[in-house]
This record gives sequence, structure tokens and C-alpha cells, in this order.
Amino acid sequence: MSVVVQKYGGSSVADVASLGRVADRIAETRRQGHEVVVVVSAMGDTTDRLLDLARQVMTDPPRRELDMLLTAGERISMALLSMALHARGVDAISFTGSQSGIITNDAHAGARVVEVRPVRIQDELARGRVVIVAGYQGVSYKKEVTTLGRGGSDTTAVALAAALGAEYCELCSDVDGVYSADPRVVDDARRLAEISHEEMIALAEAGARVLHRAAVDYARIQGITIWARAAGTPPGTQGDGTLIRVAPPEPPRRITGVAHRPILLVRGGPSVSAQDLLRSLEAEGAAVPWLVEAVPMESVTALVALDDVPDPEGLARRLSGSEAVAEVRTEMAAVSVVGTALDVETERIRRALEVVKEVAGTPTAVFRDSLRLTVVVPEDRAEQAVERLHTSLVGASR
Ligand code: ADP
Ligand code: ASP
Ligand code: MG
Repeated sequence: MSVVVQKYGGSSVADVASLGRVADRIAETRRQGHEVVVVVSAMGDTTDRLLDLARQVMTDPPRRELDMLLTAGERISMALLSMALHARGVDAISFTGSQSGIITNDAHAGARVVEVRPVRIQDELARGRVVIVAGYQGVSYKKEVTTLGRGGSDTTAVALAAALGAEYCELCSDVDGVYSADPRVVDDARRLAEISHEEMIALAEAGARVLHRAAVDYARIQGITIWARAAGTPPGTQGDGTLIRVAPPEPPRRITGVAHRPILLVRGGPSVSAQDLLRSLEAEGAAVPWLVEAVPMESVTALVALDDVPDPEGLARRLSGSEAVAEVRTEMAAVSVVGTALDVETERIRRALEVVKEVAGTPTAVFRDSLRLTVVVPEDRAEQAVERLHTSLVGASR
């Protein structure tokens, strides 16, 4: 029998009724003759509520304790989903990340999967059971419970799909695929039928939280194809969604999409090297600055992504006090255009930058790499900038 891995995000299991619909969909997949491994996120906004509770206790909680707390969210949904399957006469068993053999390094709150030993999952599949796995969590070699970064259930699913040699890996959400922009921000965003791992990684880094960056990177390294789909669509490889896969030999040249994310802009002092700045950021708990640019004779600038930072104000304060840092700008956002056609679209991009200037003023910084052009603007102008860029670049390119 072939193995299928399905992941259901928080909004797909937000309440008992939606858990029931997910259980029906899993039962249907089982009837299609597959062995099914299901990865589940915490219900609705459970993770945010747990984080909030922690912050009421202290502003910058120890990451280890946060991990102990946050992993409880997925533990609730895995057990309830297993019960919902039992109620439908489907034999199922739930496992935590640790029981599933998801081994990570010890970087709490943003751990990396280093090995998967799915022995218990394989045993239970052989017994004819559906296996439900708590997403977003693993265990380190030191036997510490870890989490994989916000949105990390996607990574659990991809890592299991690779380890189990799954026939396909579906990531099911409240949106029916990857769009050229967040459909909540841009009304006429378009669903992409397919996208390469590299384009998707660039979009995820730019802030498109529809898929977890680490999940797509894992899929890229292992050559895994991912289906991004709505939890409401029938299971299987037919039908709507977005395929995320290895780029074809001649990838289409296109502007793929536009995204934004809140950031801290950190400028190093006059004689501070990129390496020194990185070290200072790391020392203050800003482990992975998103982008660093060293312009000869000028200062080095780093963009620190704020999504996974438990206490952004505290981080900004600590960084301002650091010797290597000359300036920290808060309430900023990085707005990015992602695409394989950036190098041949210079004129359109020049006009797009004019558009950004009209809505958000002259960007504080501009970065460019092979798949992405990023401008830094005030956070309250970011969505408008995304909309206008989408209209002028994606709207006109097809
Ligand atoms: P889940 O909990 O199912 O993992 P997420 O909330 O993590 O779901 O991701 C789905 C959300 O991502 C959508 O509701 C959508 O608003 C947002 N999103 C942001 N950028 C995009 C994009 N480019 N395409 C599709 N959805 C996007
Ligand atoms: N529950 C976690 C989060 O909210 C993980 C996930 O949803 O993938 O980030
Ligand atoms: Mg997600």
C-alpha cells in the first residue's frame, strides 16, 4: 500500500465541527486504499493564545519553557482528531513529535530537523491504523522538547513524507494553494498552478506565510513534490491546488508574486563588518537575520525578521545598546517582488519602484538577489505597496 501524508493547519481544525470534516476526509483517503499519516496543527489560534499567556507571566520567557508550553497545542488537536476517527470506526493512534522520531538540533523555538526515525509510525501503519502526528515539534539529542518555528507543522509533514517515501504530501489549509500575493491583502491575487521550490522559498522568506520556509527547503533537498490545497477539497492528486516541485529545465520567466513582512532594520557602525554585526545579532537572540548587505565604504545593514521573535520591543532595545550597532529602525516592513524574470524586467521594475515611492516614500533600503527585489518601507504603508506592486507587475505580466 502506498503512504500518503496529509497536514491540516490550525484553521482546518479550529473547532469540533471542522475536526469532524477533516476526519471524514481522512476516512475517504483510507477508502481510496492508502496508508495515511496525518500531521496536525494546534486548533485555531491556540498557539497565539498560549504565547500570550506566557507573556503575561514574563515579557521574554525562556525559549525552552516556551517550547514546553507551545507543544501542548498540537497535543490537544492530535488526540481529538484521533478520537474523531475512532468515532467514525477508523482505527487511529496519535503520537507526539518525539514519539514519531522527529529528531532536531537543540535550537529552541526554531529547531531544525536533523533526522527522522519513524519506526513507531511504520509499525502502526502495518497494523492498519491511521497515524496522527503532532506537528511543529520534535525532540533534540539531549531529549529536550523543541519546536520548529511558527508554521513548522508543514516541515513535520515534509520530513515524514521523505522518511516514509510517501506517494504524495498534501499541505491543507484555509486557502486553496499559493497565490501571487496574500489573497487577504490583494483582491485579484491569482492562484499559481505550480511553482518551483526556489521560487517558493523566496516567497516564504519574503513573508508569504502560506508555507513554512524550512518545509520547502527540506522538500527541495529531498526532491519532494508538495501539494498546497484547501482542506475542503476532495483528497487525491486531481483537482485544484498548487504543486511545489523541482524547477523544470527551462523555468518560465515570470514575476511570481509579491509579499511583505515586518522587520527590524539594523545598521552596523562605520567600521563594523558583516560578520561582527551577525555575531552581535546572534548574541542578542536575533539568531537568523534575514538579509545582510555590505556596501563597500558604507555601513552593513541587516533585516531581522520579527515573526518568530517573542519580544520585538525588547530585542530592538537590546540591539540599540550593542556596540556594533549604529541604528535600529522599528515599525518597518520589507516588501518584496519575487520572480524568475527580475533581470529581464528592469524597466517595469524601475516603474514599480516609482509606484512604491508614491505610496510609501523613498525606500529606506533596497536589496536585490537573483529571485527577489526587496524594499524597506514604513510598516503602515506595506500593504498598500504590495497592492500597487501587484497591480503594476503581476497584473500586467499575464
Ligand atoms: P495553516 O494554519 O493552514 O498552516 P497559515 O495561516 O499558516 O495556514 O497559511 C495560510 C494563510 O496564508 C492564508 O490564510 C493566507 O491569508 C496567507 N497567505 C499569505 N501569503 C499567501 C500567498 N502568497 N498565497 C496564499 N496564501 C497566503
Ligand atoms: N501551531 C504552530 C503555529 O501556530 C505551528 C503551525 O501551525 O504550523 O505556528
Ligand atoms: Mg501554516
